[in-house]
Amino acid sequence: MTAPIVTRFAPSPTGFLHIGGARTALFNWLYARGRGGKMLLRIEDTDRERSTEPAIGAILDGLKWLGIEWDGETVYQFARAPRHREVAEQLLAAGKAYRCYATAEELTQMREQARAEGRAKLYDGRWRDRDPSEAPASMKPTIRLKAPLTGETVIEDQVQGRVVWQNENLDDLVLLRSDGNPTYMLAVVVDDHDMGVTHVIRGDDHLINAARQKQIYDALGWDTPSMSHIPLIHGPDGSKLSKRHGALGVDAYRARGYLPAAVRNYLVRLGWSHGDQEIFSTQEMIELFDLPAIGRSAARFDFAKLENLNGHYIRSSDDETLAAAFEDVLDYSPAGDAIKAKLTPTTRAQLLLAMPGLKERAKTLLELVDSAGYLFADRPLALEPKAAAILTPETRQLLGRLKEALAAVEPWTAEATEAAVRTFAEQRELKLGAIAQPLRVALTGRTTSPGIFDVLAVIGRSECLERLADQAQLKV
Ligand code: GLU
Repeated sequence: MTAPIVTRFAPSPTGFLHIGGARTALFNWLYARGRGGKMLLRIEDTDRERSTEPAIGAILDGLKWLGIEWDGETVYQFARAPRHREVAEQLLAAGKAYRCYATAEELTQMREQARAEGRAKLYDGRWRDRDPSEAPASMKPTIRLKAPLTGETVIEDQVQGRVVWQNENLDDLVLLRSDGNPTYMLAVVVDDHDMGVTHVIRGDDHLINAARQKQIYDALGWDTPSMSHIPLIHGPDGSKLSKRHGALGVDAYRARGYLPAAVRNYLVRLGWSHGDQEIFSTQEMIELFDLPAIGRSAARFDFAKLENLNGHYIRSSDDETLAAAFEDVLDYSPAGDAIKAKLTPTTRAQLLLAMPGLKERAKTLLELVDSAGYLFADRPLALEPKAAAILTPETRQLLGRLKEALAAVEPWTAEATEAAVRTFAEQRELKLGAIAQPLRVALTGRTTSPGIFDVLAVIGRSECLERLADQAQLKV
């Protein structure tokens, strides 16, 4: 029987959950879910100065919003420091680690000398074999790994392939600082081991750490998990990802009106591919995702592609789901408060009726909110300047007549109002557009909107007639 797959996402809570972290989490989640395994969450809060509660909150919220569920209790790394110390002591007792009493000045000097001589190894191993009785009494030592001096450290990376380091270039790394705090390198190895992690999937900025961590695993006689280091995400021009390019927190994607399913689909394609398929349901992603199909070159972030995908997911969402997402995004929309104040069973029902027309046009939920504005607008409607220009004395007069024609339409459906407007246009030898456009302006305040007869049907007869009357400058 092969051991169950266990992956983990191990963010440092020093900032929001950014898009690169979200992709790492997604890859870990998909890999585990596709194989009946588990994905664990470990908050690496050992940097006490930079780790914050709000950042932890943002990470947990971001994962939840994305629909990435982890298994079991969240592990907090700092709380495990006693266990990390215990392992460092264990290595010390086994002769696989040693106490180092080099002072800060000595270390600086070693570093400078190594640099001057072009050596990769910065620490000269001066306490490696020294008798501890020579230790200065007043000084608290660090504990360093007695790393192999010769040979190679090799990682068979699932993404990067075989990566080889010459041990002569690798320092005896610090496991425990002189204040007794474990280093990141030790903590990660001990936690991954204790959590039963079988697969480490993370950004390739950690590749060099993999070599150091492998040395710790070897010293402890523990199996090294399978390693996959995924290329980082770059901006569209190949440069480092900046805010402008999308290096934003997941909460910013939410605030900009992206659907979690669209973001997931976008993220899975950042570095991973399956033929030329672009659209993946979550189930499909889970079934198809695999490590060898991750590319070795940096993925490029492309906002236009994300928008298009989001438009696709908006169009293919059912109306009820979208109506819920609509209300969810109101907190982030400039018109949100005004709309919230008007949410009633009636306007909610209208919104649902309008949804098929609204969702055809929107690439984000914010656009959806914006184009639904006519449902919630106060009379007399504020007109966009371009729209106002369409209302001349002639068109206003036409709207007055049209109002009378529409007053008699029975039943009040898109089909019946369309027939009435067409007849109205034919009688005056006008093109449909010559009526439909002023009508649109009067009902929505804009020159673009969902299908105008759907708009009529959704807002209902009396509101339509009143909006027409406002613009025709007639009293109802
Ligand atoms: N805490 C590290 C980070 O946020 C990740 C460590 C790991 O995945 O091993 O970059």
